[in-house]
Amino acid sequence: MISERPSPGPGSLELISGGRPYRIVDLRTSAGGALERLPYVLRILLENVARCGGADAPHAVQAIRDWAATGRSEADIPFQPARLLMHDTTCGPALVDIAAMRSTLAEAGEDPRRLSPVLPIDISTDHSIAVDAFATPDALAYNMRREMERNAERYRLMKWATNALAGVRVHPPGTGIMHTLNLERLATVVCLSERDGTPWAIPDTMLGTDSHTPMINGIGVLGWGVGGLEAESVCFGMPAVIRVPDVVGVRLTGRLQPGVTATDLALTLCERLRRLELADRFLEFFGPGVASLAAGERAVVANMAPEFGASCAFFPVDEQVLRYLRDTGRSAAHARLVEDYARRQALWLEPEAAPRYTETLDFDLDRVGVSLAGPRRPQDRIDAGATVAALAPLLAGRSAARSHAQPHDGAVAIAAITSCTNTSDPRLLIAAGVLSRKARQLGLAPRPWVKTSLAPGSPTAVRYLQRAGLLADLEALGFAIVGFGCTTCIGNSGPLTPAIESAMGARGIVPVAVLSGNRNFPGRVHPRLEAAFLGSPPLVVAFALAGDVNRNILTDPLGHTAAGVPVRLADIWPTGPEIDAALAQARDPRDYPEAYDQAERSAPWEALDAADSALFPWDEASTYLRRPPFTAFGATTRLGSFRAHPLLVLGDDVTTDHISPAGAIPGHSAAADYLTAKGENPHDLNVFAARRGNWEVMIRGLFTNRSVRNLLGPAVPPGSTIHAGSGDELPLWRAAQRYAAEGTPLVIVAGERYGMGSSRDWAAKGVALLGVRAVLALSFERIHRSNLIGMGVVPLRLPAEWPSTRLALAPDDIIQIDAPAGQIKPRGRVRVCIERKSGNIAFDAALAVETTSEVEVLAAGGILPLILARAV
Ligand code: SF4
Repeated sequence: MISERPSPGPGSLELISGGRPYRIVDLRTSAGGALERLPYVLRILLENVARCGGADAPHAVQAIRDWAATGRSEADIPFQPARLLMHDTTCGPALVDIAAMRSTLAEAGEDPRRLSPVLPIDISTDHSIAVDAFATPDALAYNMRREMERNAERYRLMKWATNALAGVRVHPPGTGIMHTLNLERLATVVCLSERDGTPWAIPDTMLGTDSHTPMINGIGVLGWGVGGLEAESVCFGMPAVIRVPDVVGVRLTGRLQPGVTATDLALTLCERLRRLELADRFLEFFGPGVASLAAGERAVVANMAPEFGASCAFFPVDEQVLRYLRDTGRSAAHARLVEDYARRQALWLEPEAAPRYTETLDFDLDRVGVSLAGPRRPQDRIDAGATVAALAPLLAGRSAARSHAQPHDGAVAIAAITSCTNTSDPRLLIAAGVLSRKARQLGLAPRPWVKTSLAPGSPTAVRYLQRAGLLADLEALGFAIVGFGCTTCIGNSGPLTPAIESAMGARGIVPVAVLSGNRNFPGRVHPRLEAAFLGSPPLVVAFALAGDVNRNILTDPLGHTAAGVPVRLADIWPTGPEIDAALAQARDPRDYPEAYDQAERSAPWEALDAADSALFPWDEASTYLRRPPFTAFGATTRLGSFRAHPLLVLGDDVTTDHISPAGAIPGHSAAADYLTAKGENPHDLNVFAARRGNWEVMIRGLFTNRSVRNLLGPAVPPGSTIHAGSGDELPLWRAAQRYAAEGTPLVIVAGERYGMGSSRDWAAKGVALLGVRAVLALSFERIHRSNLIGMGVVPLRLPAEWPSTRLALAPDDIIQIDAPAGQIKPRGRVRVCIERKSGNIAFDAALAVETTSEVEVLAAGGILPLILARAV
């Protein structure tokens, strides 16, 4: 039970469930007769503002009622989630910030404990494990040992947080991927909250510092991804302030055809939805087709909300959700409470209900086919058999060959069953297991150059795969478990096989990855791989057997039996009844609590020594944890009227991966030079994601992804720029130092969808550390826009007629921006005058600031200065 912060009580009712009384918000009265016209997500937001809105509640309640009349709103409302979820690489920088701000408070003579979280925070330890070993019986133990060796220092900080910060709970390595953990263990759908000694039943709501947080929408829990900075402000009691969202209703009809998986559905929806403008919008699924999807399948779809371009992708509660709760070991009494609450509060899905939506679209489940997405973007869905044509543009006219002896262009370098998206639904892993069994029986094996791996999101997977007898089949084909974490999905795929490395080196081949992940930007899966196809776990196994993507996987042979008989996908593809039978054999709800309890009792974690003090004991020699410059008193706003030089000019689709890499720190890089100068082993520098507690490392990695082109000079290498005046070509962090010494403000200019991809706040922190005052882009991805504001950097939308490519900027050009603090308003206009060698221009840019709270954050110089100011 969580304890609520005091606020004037809303009108309430009594709900009796299982013979016990609970108070609940009188939602029908709050809605003023509009309850059934509201989308389900707005019913939940209405409950939240009525209960937690405090003095803002009347205005916020009215704003939601008004929404029902038009389907749109310009009003801001506060949102107070019941809990926060973070992972080890996003919590790291947040905990470093909190530890540093506590030190700052103590040095100023204040009590550091004034900075303590006011709501529960769960932290997963999933993003750091790498696939060093694979396809061997001891791969899991080896990879987990290496993970602890590499990350012990960061993990000590996390353990310190459990001692020093109330409500912080860390789930140690081995307890799975955050979103699976959330689905299977943390989420309650309806939770209990105590107010003045009375138990209230309330919707389970949450925010997570990860863009795939909406996966929990699959079981009727409202939550979405936020940046680490926004999470820090929420954990210290500030509400997340959002505009009452547009809600796009997706009306599902029909049902998935036999042989079609939830992965295929998610990729097909991604292709369709990404064409719409969904930034800052909520999606909600309704209609008769919803009931045909099991909760696990809905979660696969909801997971990909960020790839759809939306904030969340919500499925209301119904019988499928109750079944999921019971199947994952939740008590019958709790499932009853969820049902009673949802029915009483009109949160129960009625298949024929048609609430008002901002916009609706129809989607026929019958028309989904077996699919892949790639080779470079998740929205580029193709029929599974169309990989040859999809890869052709990357091969620059060379034709790919098939060979059983050695890898060629199109060879599968990595075949990874990975990611929360596609390893949380047991049906998908069971399907991969059934396909493996059939392939094994026919004598097929993966090609020797393929790096195979299985990294389930849940430790429970071992139990159900074993009970169904399928783990041995997967292991026999190289898909032994390598870890319970993000692994290949986040780019911790480890080294490629020697055969692939040597073929790339000697013959320059272009290999690919095939994975059950959700993102495939060049370099995401592995820094040396430009192409990756996303697909369901059984398809991943099939491509490992084929060894390349140079065939129609649906019709061409994958291999041959010992007798030389060709084996095609149809010969081994799992049928619905086969999967159902294996699932029936595999399932036991007791597995869930038992597997997690066992994983939580982690001996290496218990053995980790961590300080038990209000202040974190900083170690000056640490190369992982250093107090960042932005956690001191004395921050100033970046608003104002100023004349800046362009530090970088970029094109479209610059992702947060491009801005701040997460993967391995290259041996020949400025970050590596810094670390080796500090005495680190040049052959074991770890990944950038693990170094986010050290700003010196992170600043040296900014924009070094080789796909990033700085348009200020065609020959400028990634991560560099041309210094105005001198014309010197310098690494960005060096140029920033020189500009700072000269007192020259800087801006970054970019194209469409700037900051798409992961939620990482370092993409904004790094830009702020470079001294950038404003980013001008044609459009921003939602979380990154929020992170920029969190760091005090002003986001401005360029007018459509002036894309970054047409501005033709040179390093010496001057960009004058007039955005004085005190005069700017949400979505206001900001005058931009550019003095160019090629001719001066001027236009109004749109301030990409949505709420008055965001204006307040910019005026304070960022969220951290605001938190510090409120703590004294
Ligand atoms: S999407 Fe990938 S990186 Fe993100 S939480 Fe899921 S598994 Fe981890």
